[in-house]
Amino acid sequence: QQMTTAQIRQSFLDYFAKQQHQVVPSSSLIPGNDATLLFTNAGMVQFKDVFLGGEKRPYNRATSSQRCVRAGGKHNDLENVGYTARHHTFFEMLGNFSFGDYFKKDAIRFAWEFLTKEINLPKEKLLVTVYHDDQEAYDIWAKDMGVPEDKIIRIATSDNFWSMGDTGPCGPCSEIFYDHGEEIWGGPPGSPEEDGDRFIEIWNLVFMQYNRHADGTMEPLPKQSVDTGMGLERISAIMQGVHSNYEIDLFQALIAAAARVTGAQDLEDKSLRVIADHIRSCAFLIADGVMPSNEGRGYVLRRIIRRAVRHGNKLGAKGAFFYQLVSALSEQMGDAYPELVKQGAIIEKVLRIEEEQFGKTLDRGLAILEEHLASLEGDVIPGDVVFKLYDTYGFPADLTADVARERFMTIDERGFKDCMETQRKMAQQAGKFGADYNEQLKSEKSSDFKGYDATHYTGTVVELFKE
Ligand code: ATP
Ligand code: MG
Ligand code: MG
Ligand code: MG
Repeated sequence: QQMTTAQIRQSFLDYFAKQQHQVVPSSSLIPGNDATLLFTNAGMVQFKDVFLGGEKRPYNRATSSQRCVRAGGKHNDLENVGYTARHHTFFEMLGNFSFGDYFKKDAIRFAWEFLTKEINLPKEKLLVTVYHDDQEAYDIWAKDMGVPEDKIIRIATSDNFWSMGDTGPCGPCSEIFYDHGEEIWGGPPGSPEEDGDRFIEIWNLVFMQYNRHADGTMEPLPKQSVDTGMGLERISAIMQGVHSNYEIDLFQALIAAAARVTGAQDLEDKSLRVIADHIRSCAFLIADGVMPSNEGRGYVLRRIIRRAVRHGNKLGAKGAFFYQLVSALSEQMGDAYPELVKQGAIIEKVLRIEEEQFGKTLDRGLAILEEHLASLEGDVIPGDVVFKLYDTYGFPADLTADVARERFMTIDERGFKDCMETQRKMAQQAGKFGADYNEQLKSEKSSDFKGYDATHYTGTVVELFKE
């Protein structure tokens, strides 16, 4: 009997509750305690101040299943969606945390016991990494857990050394990988082919061991802590005997729904995966209060929505389709996230308005892009074309880059940014005079208009903006 994704989430939380961990609900995707962070991108985010010692909680062990978004900001997996078996813009991170309580030995023991005893993964398919000089972790894996030495890989890069920032808590990590089999391309961690999807990283154990000072010195923390993160969808894929996250129960349901609303026939189509991924990040972002806009978090949301709409268009969708996936998502995740159900109607409405608005310029923009591509020499779409699509048709640059990539092309990002900068300067100039001019126009219409104040307006400026 195969475990569902929902059951796997529960079994993780149950296991750690049994080990005296407090089960803590997921926090919002909008970090409450960190203005520098775009979105919550790991389980530890809501515990940051506890780790730093500034906040006290009535427990020193916690476990959670944290909703995360990695699109924009430091961790950005948007470009990976549709191209790897393991990345989403939205995913759930299962984690266990020790706030100055247990350290390496128990963290490793819990993880190994959960994987090999609680959910019975075959040991021979697991591989672990340690930071190259972390002999302590190496010995725990080798001696206490009995992992054969050829399955323990020492890594010297930042992949296995975590830090919160340039200064502050930091320490080595130990990661657990699963081998999906030699028929899949990829190599073990540390090898040149590690980015392939054969050996998939499932769990990161972070040992907060030092406090790094501005001069680079590292002082052992008075209270050493543990922060771990395991992707629910990745462990679910393993438990359900499939390779790609997109083949798990939850995603199969979303993909089927996406096929229904777009009219797509081929369930393997990459665009269906992208849409199934994007409905999760968009719906959850809106549920957490983000609204589509032209800047900051809202612009990331708008970009993801427009990307999804473009993929639907590619599949032949007629009219707004994306918002229709909200109910399918609620069916899959509503039990674990009741706010999704409660806010369902609002989420649908926001998505539909966005889709309809973008739908007005999408076809025309795509036609313009096709025209340019037909006469293009080389494989780089020029910055001014990317800019025109952005400025006139509402194509975020990453959307154009996504179209380009499907044809093994790229966009001229530098050139695009230059165009943006030029426009920004022009808008600034225009703003300086134009805004005031609009005021004048308004007052011109009103009866008490007494003529331009010569000290503020010269004839030329007014002439310039008369058009
Ligand atoms: P990868 O190397 O595969 O990109 P990562 O090293 O960036 O993963 P961590 O920052 O260590 O990931 O996060 C902890 C865990 O969260 C990972 O081991 C993985 O199981 C999961 N995870 C990370 N990013 C994603 C994502 N974009 N989609 C789904 N799961 C993810
Ligand atoms: Mg990553
Ligand atoms: Mg990694
Ligand atoms: Mg990692």
